[in-house]
Amino acid sequence: METLSVRTSSRTDLRDITGEVAAAVAAGGVSEGICVVYVPHTTAGVTINENADPAVRSDIAATLERMVPWEGPYRHSEGNSAAHVKATLVGFSAVVPVTGGRLALGTWQGIYFCEFDGPRTRKVHVRVIPAH
Ligand code: ZN
Repeated sequence: METLSVRTSSRTDLRDITGEVAAAVAAGGVSEGICVVYVPHTTAGVTINENADPAVRSDIAATLERMVPWEGPYRHSEGNSAAHVKATLVGFSAVVPVTGGRLALGTWQGIYFCEFDGPRTRKVHVRVIPAH
């Protein structure tokens, strides 16, 4: 398993990690299998979406903000409940098929680390499970 370090730069930050994940997959040397991208945090997640128009990324972030505003009412004493809820909505893992040693992403897909309580330095685990 490879662990990436991701430095985020604002409270909400959807960061394209496709290149880093692809490099980890290539370094692993598995030709056919499944790549699991896992975020071991409670206020950040991972998703796959469009890599062409950056407005898609900002629309996702803005829509999540409208759905789950930073100011409550929330009960969690740490004051970052919105980040926990957004992370749960996005999810903590992404699965991508690997074929020919490469991620089988669609042409317009990228992998996004989703920070909801930044800026921080975060971890992302990448593991390729061989098909056979
Ligand atoms: Zn918290």
